[in-house]
Parts: sequence; C-alpha cells; structure tokens
Amino acid sequence: MAAPSVGGVRLPKGNGETIRLPRGASLTDFAEKINANPASLVQVLFHLGEMVTATASVSDEVLELLGQEMNYRVQVVSPEEEDRALLESFDIEFGDPGDEDALAARPPVVTVMGHVDHGKTRLLDTVRKANVREGESGGITQHIGAYQVSTELEGVERLITMIDTPGHEAFTAMRARGAKSTDIAVIVVAADDGVMPQTVESINHAQAADLPIVVAVNKIDVEGANPDKIRQQLTEYNLVAEEYGGDTMFVEISAKQGTNIEGLLEAILLTADAALDLRANPDMEAQGVTIEGHLDRGRGPVATVLVQRGTLKVGDSVVAGDASGRVRRMIDEHGEDVTEALPSRPVQVIGLTSVPGAGDTFLVVDEDRVARQIADRRRARERNAELASRRKRVSLEDLDAALKETNTLNLIIKGDNSGTVEALEESLMKLDVGDEVDLRVIHRGVGGITEGDINLAIADNVIVMGFNVRAEGKATELATREGVEIRYYSVIYQAIEEIEAALKGMLKPEYEEVELGRAEVREVFKSSKFGTIAGCLVMGGEIRRNARARLLRDSTVIHENLPISSLRRFKDDVVEVREGYECGITLGSYSDIKVDDVIETFEMREKPRA
Ligand code: GDP
Repeated sequence: MAAPSVGGVRLPKGNGETIRLPRGASLTDFAEKINANPASLVQVLFHLGEMVTATASVSDEVLELLGQEMNYRVQVVSPEEEDRALLESFDIEFGDPGDEDALAARPPVVTVMGHVDHGKTRLLDTVRKANVREGESGGITQHIGAYQVSTELEGVERLITMIDTPGHEAFTAMRARGAKSTDIAVIVVAADDGVMPQTVESINHAQAADLPIVVAVNKIDVEGANPDKIRQQLTEYNLVAEEYGGDTMFVEISAKQGTNIEGLLEAILLTADAALDLRANPDMEAQGVTIEGHLDRGRGPVATVLVQRGTLKVGDSVVAGDASGRVRRMIDEHGEDVTEALPSRPVQVIGLTSVPGAGDTFLVVDEDRVARQIADRRRARERNAELASRRKRVSLEDLDAALKETNTLNLIIKGDNSGTVEALEESLMKLDVGDEVDLRVIHRGVGGITEGDINLAIADNVIVMGFNVRAEGKATELATREGVEIRYYSVIYQAIEEIEAALKGMLKPEYEEVELGRAEVREVFKSSKFGTIAGCLVMGGEIRRNARARLLRDSTVIHENLPISSLRRFKDDVVEVREGYECGITLGSYSDIKVDDVIETFEMREKPRA
C-alpha cells in the first residue's frame, strides 16, 4: 500500500499506535519517535497550513494534529507526569498525605519577597538573631537555606520555618519546577519608598501560587515613612488591610532596629491559622523539597531539604532529583547534629552521591537500590533531553535554515552550589540583545567541570562556565584539544557582562553611513580623455579619491553609488581635497552632471552595538 501523501509529501504512516511525547516537544522529537525525517514533518505541517520549524517547541494541538494526519495517537505528557509514571513503576506516590487521622499540625513555611533594598535580607537576619531559643548556645549560626524560629501565640510556643533566600527569583525558579516550597509569603515594602515594580511582581507570584500574604511595612524608623500610604496603594492589588475591612495583615516593623518582629511572626501564625490547614503525617517515610545544594570540600554533596511529610531519619535511603544516597548525617541551622526531622523542618543532609538542584523533590525509599534506580532513570531522561536539544542545533535540514538564520550561543553552567547556578541561569536568560541571537543553557550542575561536560560541549557553539569551580581531571586537556572554551568566574555580574558581550559579538555587524564630504558643482567640462569633469568647491569635510559618492540636484538624489574615480587640483592628481578648496572630480563614466549639483561622499562604518 502506498504511503499517504499531503501536497506530494510522503507521510510516515502509523497503525494507530500511541506515542508519548513530552510537553513542548518539537517536530524533531516527534520524528525521532517514529523514525522519520524531521524535514518531512515540517513539510506535512506546512501543507496543513502551519508554518513550524523542526526544532521549535510546538503546542499540544499541533502535535495531535500531526499525529492524526499520520495515524498515530499522540499523548502529550508533562515532565511531572513522566516522573510520576516513573515513581509509580516503583509503587511510590509522591505527595500522598497518608491517613487523615494521622495528620498533625506542622509549622508554616514562609518566603520573604519584595522590591530590592526594601529590607528582605535585613529582616531575615533580624529574625534569625532575635530568636535564640532557650538552652541554645550560639543561636542560628549556619546559613543552610532555611531556618526555624519559635514564637509564642496565645500562650503556646510555635515554630515558623523561614526560607533564607530573599527574593522571588528563587521562589519562582522552584515553582517553575513544580515544587511547592512555601505556605505564606511575606511581602516587604519599605515605608519610605512605597510600592515598587518588584513589589507588584512579588504579589503576582504569591497570588499565582495561591499563597496567603502578610505585608511587612518596613523601615518605619525612617523619617518620612508613610505606612498608611502603603495600605492605600496595596488595595489596588487586592491586599486590603484588616483596618480597612479586608483580611490582609499589615505589620509595621523596622528590620534595622528590630521593632515589632514578634508582631510579624504572630501575624504569620494568625494568617496561617485563618487561611490554611497545615497538617502532615509525621509517621510516614519522608518526602519534601530540596532548597539548596552544594559541593563541600570535606563532606561531599550537601543538600538542604525541607521535610514536607513524614519524618526524615539518619540512615534513610533517599533520592533527591537525580541524586541518591543514604542519610549519613543531618545538621540543623544551629550547626547541631539531628537524628530526626519532622514536617516543615529544614535540615542539611550529608550522604548523597551527587548534588540535587534547588526545587528537586526528595523522597525516602525502602532500599538504596531503589533510590539509585530512580536517580539513574531521571539522569538518563535528563541526558536524553539534553542530547535532543543539542541535536536540534545541528540538524538543519528544515525549512527554518533556509528562511531565517538564528545564531545560538549554548552554555553549560557549573557552579559551587545550586542556588548560584540557578540565579546565574535566570539572569542570563533575561539577557536580550535582539532576535538574531539566542542563548540556551544546555546543561547545568553543581561541582567541577568534568570530561562529560566537555564532551557535551564538543561540536557545538558551547561555552562552559565555571562559577567558583574549576575543571577537574582531564577536562582541561580535553577542552584544549577539542577547542572548547571554558571561562571561570567568581562574580555573577561579571559573568553576565561577559556573556552579554559574547552575544553581541555574535550579532552580524550593523553599518551606518558616515558623511565624509560635500562639494558643489560650479562648472562642467567635457574632456575627450577624462569624460565629464565637474569643477567643484568643497563645502564641507573632505573629498577623497575612491570614496563612494552620490549626486544630488535640488536636494534630490539623482544617482547613488558613484565612484570618485579621479580627483585633481589644477593639473595634479590628488588623494584628497579639503573644505574651501576647488577641485576637478570625475564620477566614473557618469556624465549627467549640471552646475549647482552637489556631490556627497560617504563611507559605511560598522556601528558599535548599544
Ligand atoms: P533587600 O534588597 O530587600 O534584601 O534589602 P536589604 O535587607 O539589603 O536592605 C537594604 C538597605 O536598607 C540596607 O542598607 C539595610 O540596612 C536598610 N534597611 C533594612 N531595613 C531597614 C529598616 O527597618 N530601617 C532602616 N532605616 N533601614 C533598613
């Protein structure tokens, strides 16, 4: 039977079988699943009236349409669904809360967000310092990415977990990866500055995540602070203060002077009690989310995890993202060893074989073997995705190549901790130097630059960035041999500046016209030897031999792109004639020159990029 065709294109034909494609797959991904040429899928879609390039992500609908056309049943799966299926194959359900009866109250987890300089960092510092629990020597001494404080509400001592990275970037990055790490958002607004763009952004992020908000009106110690103005301003964003009949708590504080910090903590608890039902089952195998991870010289991979259900214990077999291992030690924010961590408790875990990323989920499994298998499968999947995205660049057999050429700068980012790597990636992705060049991070990770990284970088336009890490083993040698560029950084903005410069360097040069000189025609001579000679007076700049010229008459361009083929003063050939001098000019064989015409010369200069 002949394969069906659309517009003369032969279709790869299925038998109604189901193919699963990750959400956001490209035609290249599709083609791979059915062993077809991506270009043929591009053409099929083209004839169906959809102009799509082989490497671009396409919508679920387009994937399904294409499937129908070729007799495949397309099932689009999100990465989360894929992972869920993976866990199911091990009989594990992530996020299963367990029996209703077994649920116990757990502390709220709080993220502090707001505009830059409004006092987020200072607030987190003040809360950390203010809360030295009785019987503890040094208070909170370790920055592990989150900490717990206790406060008394209505005579009961209660805990609050603060995520110790200010700003909504970290929060958004985690949420973008499907991790729910936070219960309540504290939006910090400086009373002397008011609602600013990032205040609004933070509110949007919090509201999109359905988080109750507590507003901390900060810097009330500053002269001219106007807390009421902030209440007023925020009504526009659906944050109506209780005093105005709404249900958002506004707390006036000074992070600098430590004023009313207790009041803020109370407001957090009251808001949690009113808006949320924060309970978790402590008697299950632990699950939760990774808040940060880094590679420690002495201790190896170190990850701070936030337990969300169950109790994490020393000795547990865990898998976090694509890292696995056994909990050898747990250390809290006081630098003390702990043996058990209950829900909402952040702890540093030592014993993983690699560093998980911020936002990676973690879970306890029965055996080391299972942890390892899950981690391996996840790593393989990620590797495939990376290879696919890499292959996309080299497969140019599609219409795209002919239609439009975009330059892509591919990056591999390695750093000393996952927070930095993510922050760097986010900032880099925000760089925008126009449509002609694209930036893509094809791989990122914590730890030194390995041979594996270099292998990934070979054959592509890839720069390997090392942030506070160096190349290890034979990686440098391999990179040198294969011409892979490695750049080392220890300052974020410097890394960003350099990559921005590299991107700009990839732009095709833009030229601009620069006027060189202007001459008015005073007389016209015809010479049998030289043709038409214009006797001119140079009115501005200088006229140079061999420059490009245009001829104007009554301010209208009569002819473009003429050469100044000869230039003379009296009987002598000269190279240039300056303003105020007379000269004879011929414009190649061009002869339509009249008295009072203007000859303008210019050159095209490369324009510096803004
Ligand atoms: P972030 O960018 O939101 O993390 O802001 P920071 O915590 O770094 O604070 C920015 C500046 O405001 C720092 O110089 C702080 O010392 C100062 N600051 C923070 N809170 C207060 C406050 O309550 N009162 C006063 N006067 N200054 C504050």
